[in-house]
Amino acid sequence: MPIHDCLIIGAGPAGATAAYHLARLGRRVLLIEKAPLPRVKPCGGGVSPEVSRWLPFDLAPAASTQVTRLRFTWEMGSPVEGDFGTREPIWMVRRERFDQLIVDQAVALGAELKDANAATGFRWANHRWIVETPMGDFEGKYVIAADGALGKTAKMLGFPAMKHTLAGALEGEAHCEMKDSHTAHLDFGTIPNGYLWAFPKADGWSMGAGIFRGRQKRNLHEALEVYAPTFGIIPSGMSIAGHPIKLWDGDQVLHTQNALIAGEAACLADPFTAEGIRPSIFSGFVAAHSVHDALSGKDRALESYTRRIHEEWGSEMRWARRVAKLFYSMPAVAYRFVVRESGAIHRMGQLLCGEARYSEVAQHAIARILAGSS
Ligand SMILES: Cc1cc2nc3c(=O)[nH]c(=O)nc-3n(C[C@H](O)[C@H](O)[C@H](O)COP(=O)(O)OP(=O)(O)OC[C@H]3O[C@@H](n4cnc5c(N)ncnc54)[C@H](O)[C@@H]3O)c2cc1C
Repeated sequence: MPIHDCLIIGAGPAGATAAYHLARLGRRVLLIEKAPLPRVKPCGGGVSPEVSRWLPFDLAPAASTQVTRLRFTWEMGSPVEGDFGTREPIWMVRRERFDQLIVDQAVALGAELKDANAATGFRWANHRWIVETPMGDFEGKYVIAADGALGKTAKMLGFPAMKHTLAGALEGEAHCEMKDSHTAHLDFGTIPNGYLWAFPKADGWSMGAGIFRGRQKRNLHEALEVYAPTFGIIPSGMSIAGHPIKLWDGDQVLHTQNALIAGEAACLADPFTAEGIRPSIFSGFVAAHSVHDALSGKDRALESYTRRIHEEWGSEMRWARRVAKLFYSMPAVAYRFVVRESGAIHRMGQLLCGEARYSEVAQHAIARILAGSS
């Protein structure tokens, strides 16, 4: 059996990015993916342009359209609309194309791919991980678990249960002629503790509904059935799928014996917006470099992965969680005093595009909500 430098489980944004960078660094890497590729993932497909920092190739072939404007509504009325005014737009992608582009780039650099092949078990023997799959066993010096919100790899590798806030979301795609494919729509108030969205694509919409805090149930299907017709979409024409999202809920250890967890498997999604693609790509990038350092004999290389994720992502998510807690507990106040405030769309655009940090803008939003509620 050939020994790989690294086995990567899951070919979503986190795993594919890690495979790309390890292959680029000359490492022998095997990417194992349960689904046949390209695979569809229920997702709004809004991607921060900041990801190009960690994906140094042309992403344009995967961009369906670019968003430069946001339109907020409260219970489907009281709209506020404006330009982001950011240096770069947000990309809107279909995941089967976007994720596949990263996988193709990794394979072009020499990463091996076994799709339609799930990791079903792991053994640690002779200083190597052996992964069991229907296509046989594979051996690797390191493992990166990047198998998403529903993944079981971390547990199989012996990580303790990961702390997270579990969000639920539904997404449906509608194909139609688009009058404006540069404005993204978010509706607050209709769904408690979450929002409805309509994200444009060149040839239609991604529409969805998500609940990001608390346990109260609201029929997301019902809300989408009311929201979709406001865009001229007949809900029965959409194929709607649900998927959980593991939102960040505190820093935790992301390394163990010769293994790391990346992406949503590491519960890195933003607790306020539920954005998960950017942290997945960032963590895949950092994980690849940490494994490369470990293979090069650098001390404490895997610990440095956990530390860097805490310092560069966890520190921001701490603020995002504070904003989420206040925003979703007083959504009407938050809508009136934060969302409707002049400059709010620009600040939101800056956050999503990586041109501002929560640590720079959150205190202002929190102060406005608290002042508005008193
Ligand atoms: C409805 C919805 C809308 C969303 N909208 C957005 C958005 O607009 N923007 C945004 O940034 N984020 C969004 N997110 C979050 C985003 O989709 C995820 O955070 C992101 O896909 C996580 O990437 P990942 O690589 O960690 O995992 P995934 O993309 O989930 O990839 C994990 C992969 O691992 C594979 N796998 C699982 N188990 C195994 C196994 N045993 N062996 C091998 N392979 C395995 C899976 O098949 C999958 O392909 C949304 C999420 C949902 C549910």
